[in-house]
Amino acid sequence: MEYAIDVGGTKIAYAIVDGTRIIAEDSIATDGKSPEESLPKVGEALRTVARESMRDVRAVGLSLPGPIAHGVLLHAPNLHPAWAGRRIDELLGLLALAVPGVAQRDALLGGLGEFAAGAGQGLDSFAYLTLGTGVGGGLIIDGEPLTGTDGAAGEIGHLTVDVRGPRCGCGRRGCVEAIASGTAIARIYAAETGEEIHGAEIAQRARSGERAARRVFSRAGSALGVACAAWAQVANPQAVITGGSLSQSMDLLLPSLERTLHRRAWKANLPLPIVQAKLGGPAPLVGAAYYARAHAR
Ligand SMILES: [Zn+2]
Repeated sequence: MEYAIDVGGTKIAYAIVDGTRIIAEDSIATDGKSPEESLPKVGEALRTVARESMRDVRAVGLSLPGPIAHGVLLHAPNLHPAWAGRRIDELLGLLALAVPGVAQRDALLGGLGEFAAGAGQGLDSFAYLTLGTGVGGGLIIDGEPLTGTDGAAGEIGHLTVDVRGPRCGCGRRGCVEAIASGTAIARIYAAETGEEIHGAEIAQRARSGERAARRVFSRAGSALGVACAAWAQVANPQAVITGGSLSQSMDLLLPSLERTLHRRAWKANLPLPIVQAKLGGPAPLVGAAYYARAHAR
């Protein structure tokens, strides 16, 4: 059994995981909190659950929203500034769980979760795409997360797809995230129509045939198609698994995504099926436990 913790921009989800089954799960709000203000509380809550239920927990897996390399969380733009640059063993120490631990970037652990218990079962190598307020991604190759030198390999959200495109949060222009994230879709729609409405409502308007709404989703789908073609070219995965809240609008994204993918990808790398994730939100928790089971010493 493992402890699994998923640190996000608004909450920290935590659980005890038995195999691929989540047997106790809860969360605390993280908004603007430093590791010192939040991790000790999570550790205490997990220790209490383990003690009261007499679970024999052997390791801890920590999912973090940023690239990890050389034992350090290198960037974490959605968290309190005190998170970035921190050593993983320091962060694990704040949990005081008294078991060995590992940490990895959230999109990679989400992918591993799908590999262990979701849409990635039976696949060896695939790309995992999370579509929400941001766009995240990673590659699972032969059942292991591909990290690269600085932990950011396969992070497709910041692939440039339009050199003159909208400004991205990372400071550059035309990243996938600046065109295809939920935030970007709302921003581009507002710029075109003057109406500031939520992504879900734009999706509804697109489904009822409104042109501006359809155009914004079609552009987002094309950006994702270019991204998938890049993944296909570089890593030749068996499939792309899509998760995150915005993947519920896949019906609107998929036509232009697939059209662009088939136009841009080299034929040797096709077909590349686009598959819906099965686990959804808990994927990083299941993946963190799976990763800890394999790698925590
Ligand atoms: Zn960017």
